[in-house]
Parts: sequence; C-alpha cells; structure tokens
Amino acid sequence: MADDRRIALVTGASRGIGKAIAARLAADGLFVVGTATSAEGAVAVADELAAGGTGVVLRLEDESAVGETVADIQSRYGAPLVLVNNAGVTRDNLLLRMTPAQWSGVVDANLTGIFRLTKPLLRGMMRARWGRIVNLSSVVGRMGNAGQANYAATKAGIEGFTRSLAQELGSRGITVNAVAPGFIDTDMTRELAESQRQAMVERTALGRIGTAEDVAAVVGFLVGEGAAYITGETVHVNGGLYAG
Ligand code: NAP
Repeated sequence: MADDRRIALVTGASRGIGKAIAARLAADGLFVVGTATSAEGAVAVADELAAGGTGVVLRLEDESAVGETVADIQSRYGAPLVLVNNAGVTRDNLLLRMTPAQWSGVVDANLTGIFRLTKPLLRGMMRARWGRIVNLSSVVGRMGNAGQANYAATKAGIEGFTRSLAQELGSRGITVNAVAPGFIDTDMTRELAESQRQAMVERTALGRIGTAEDVAAVVGFLVGEGAAYITGETVHVNGGLYAG
C-alpha cells in the first residue's frame, strides 16, 4: 500500500541504474512502482523494494499495454507524481551496416516509449499542481559515439523533449529534467571488451567507472524539494569524461 507516500514510477527498475534509482527513492520515503519487462522481473523488483514499493511488467514498445499499465497503477496506488524514464536499450552497429530494425527498435523503446508513458501521467501531476519528471539521457547524446547513431539520436532527442516539456509544464509546478550518465558499471557496459572499458576509464577525469548509485543520487536530488527551481536542465554524471 502506498498510504500517504508520493508515488514514483521508475522504468527499468530490475537492473543497473534503474534498480539503484528505485532503491534510492524508496529510501527517501517515496512509494516506488518499478518496472521490468517480464513477470519474474516484476516479482524480483517487488521483493527487492519490500515495503518501499512494488513491481509491474512494462514493455515500452507495447502501446496499448503502456496505457493499461498506467490505468492499473493509478487505480491500485494513485497517480504517480514522480516519473523516472530510465529504461533504455542499445542495438549497436555502424550506420553502413545498421538494419532498419536496429534503428527503429531503439527509437521505439527509447524515444517513442517516453512519449507513450509520460503523456497519460501528466493529468495526475497537473491536477496535483506538483510533479517531477526525470529522463535518462547519455553522454553520447552530446559526444556522439561510433556505432551508436541510433542510440545517440534518441538520447539527444530526449534532451530536446525534456526542454520542451519543461516549458509546457512549468506553470503547473511540474519540473522536467534529464540526467546524462557517462560510463557506468551495468549490464549495458559489461558487454564491452575489457580493453574498451579500460580506454573509457582512462578518458574519465576521475579515473574510475561510475556506479549506478552515483546516478541515483542525482535523480534523488532532482525529484526532491531541493531541486524545485531546476527545470529543462540536463545534469551530466560522467566523472569528467566529457564537459561542454
Ligand atoms: P540495463 O542495465 O541494460 O537495464 C535496462 C533496464 O531497462 C532493465 O530494467 C530492463 O528490464 C529495462 N528494459 C529494457 N528494455 C525495455 C523495454 N523495451 N521496455 C521497458 N523496459 C525495458 O541499463 P542501464 O545501464 O541501467 O541504463 C539505464 C538507463 O541509463 C538507460 O536509459 C541507458 O540508456 C542510460 N545510460 C546508461 C549508461 C551506462 O553506462 N550504463 C550510460 C549512459 C546512459 P529487464 O531487466 O526486464 O530486461
């Protein structure tokens, strides 16, 4: 039960950065609804959060299921006033070899998925005249990265989406920000060869790979009262891998 806690919806809470964000927000006193793509994953999220929240199944590509999931969350727990659009996918390839499915799969999940999920949640935040939306971008949305034209395009798009939505919703007391992680130790980066991981660490001013908790701490700040006057921003959490 959510009792009188604010409800936070965190996508991709089963692993990596999303899991750390869910734990952080629950520790900060929110009731967290964390998503996974499978029923087993949703159960694991619920077990992990215990009294701090619950888990639900969500696949961002599935338009009708996204609407049904939002309606179900609203009727069971109430309207989420905090939304963390964390889930994201990669399908890396050089553009010369990139298939239409690799392109559209990433755009559909990372960019259109955010549209699908954010839109039906706005009414509840507007009614409350309070809301916090945080979208996960990436350092490659700014830097670019060979082999990731599809992924980088979605992340740059997310930042434009964030700035636009911030302007639409500011008068309603809703802030919209992006967080752009650098090189963070999760399943997404564990796919890289050790030599590539080492090269990324060497380019990072702080000389280490980031942790999911490094990112979660910034998301926790942005959804709290201390960030009430920050909107339309992208906060970089990259250890000095890139500045600009
Ligand atoms: P991750 O470890 O690969 O975890 C991805 C999460 O998203 C999982 O919970 C997964 O659920 C969920 N997910 C995957 N496909 C989905 C879909 N189609 N619909 C809904 N949920 C889906 O990712 P991560 O490294 O934590 O990254 C989290 C976010 O940070 C992403 O937006 C990523 O682009 C961004 N980011 C990461 C890094 C990095 O270095 N790791 C750097 C910059 C930006 P299942 O467990 O059910 O598969």
